[in-house]
Amino acid sequence: MEFATQCLHAGYEPQNGEPGALPIIQSTTFKYDQTADVAALFDLKAAGFFYSRLANPTVDAVERKLAALEGGVGAILTSSGQAASFIALMNLCHAGDHIVASSTIYGGVINLLAVTMKRFGIEVTLVDQSLPNAELDQYFRPNTKAFYAESVANPSARVLDFARMAELAHSHGVPLVVDNTFATPYLCRPIEFGADIVVHSTSKYLDGHALGLGGAIIDSGKFDWVEHKDKFPEFSEPDASYHGCVYTEAFGNAAYIVKARAQLIRDIGCLQSPQNAFYLNLGLETLPLRMQQYCKNAQAVAEYLSKHPKVEEVFYPGLTSSPDHELAQKYLPRGVSGVLSFTLKCNEATASAPDAGRQLAAQFIDHLQLVALKVHVADIKSIVMHPASTSHRQLTAEQLAAAGVSPTLVRLSVGLEDVSDIIADLEQALAQI
Ligand SMILES: *Cc1c(COP(=O)(O)O)cnc(C)c1O
Repeated sequence: MEFATQCLHAGYEPQNGEPGALPIIQSTTFKYDQTADVAALFDLKAAGFFYSRLANPTVDAVERKLAALEGGVGAILTSSGQAASFIALMNLCHAGDHIVASSTIYGGVINLLAVTMKRFGIEVTLVDQSLPNAELDQYFRPNTKAFYAESVANPSARVLDFARMAELAHSHGVPLVVDNTFATPYLCRPIEFGADIVVHSTSKYLDGHALGLGGAIIDSGKFDWVEHKDKFPEFSEPDASYHGCVYTEAFGNAAYIVKARAQLIRDIGCLQSPQNAFYLNLGLETLPLRMQQYCKNAQAVAEYLSKHPKVEEVFYPGLTSSPDHELAQKYLPRGVSGVLSFTLKCNEATASAPDAGRQLAAQFIDHLQLVALKVHVADIKSIVMHPASTSHRQLTAEQLAAAGVSPTLVRLSVGLEDVSDIIADLEQALAQI
């Protein structure tokens, strides 16, 4: 099936007389006739549902769809994007380990890594992904377990050089974990370019309507856990919590995703709810159409802003002036999503005042009428955000600079309104600053 067909049909194939729409199986439990049936499920010897903390038929159908869309061997839907990143990485490391991550990733994940996972005894090094591999090599240690980056970074919209980053990660014997939230599999399929694990915040374009929080982990099935068993013994050694199950033997190239569910989803309990999976499925059905229009609208807005005298710089890889334009054409030839960011020019009178940049951005945002101020991005409606005072507020000045977040930076998530209305709103707000 082609991509658009998979968006409608993958994961759920109704049989004779069954509902045409994916049913919401709103049940925590599933009934069995024999003790032995349930015992086989608990031993991972039979497939089936027994408790919706581990798996649920509605969630399972959408997991299958997303695995198909990303070209993976399996997927897990989580209760949020943060949970997806956490589970994806915790499936690879434990106390005493280390992760290398790009410094341009989403602020929330920087916090997860640098604060919360640090408390778990896992260290992170944030690196400038644009440095040559020969320089990035020095940040990898014997205990490094993953390289983590975003296909299109939030909010800087930097595009990942997949081939180079996959080579970097693999030369150090670790998987490349890619957050594909902004690109979505319609614009870019990281697994085709060497990513081993893909994560998503499905709360964004995939759900598409700002209805349900969610996340996803997709396993490419390509990383060789047996070859790298010195670094990742848990995949090919018996799991005492499952009567000595050896994941690579029992589940082959799906070892990673089965282990993540069997150990972490079981113990931490952050599977997506059936209701949210249902909303996510509705969003996935129209993903190709929506992504095409986001890209068109954002391109028009980026071109408009780049010519405006009060705008200093526009960051959108769809612009020929973008340093990432070439990478975008290589990896995202259909477009680079609806998210762009730009900085405003401080005039000379105010530039010297402390916090002038933050205030100018705030003033501009407060004058917008159609484009709404919301803590969200990649939504069906146009949204504006000020990263320095919101999503990246907890970061230090150094981390802000490394993430490419300056005080006047405005993040604009271009929605599906008629683009002339979006531009008219930006025009009147810019006229007032
Ligand atoms: C929003 C976001 C997250 C976190 O997702 P939640 O669903 O809000 O937990 C992670 N990565 C990126 C790129 C995001 O935009």
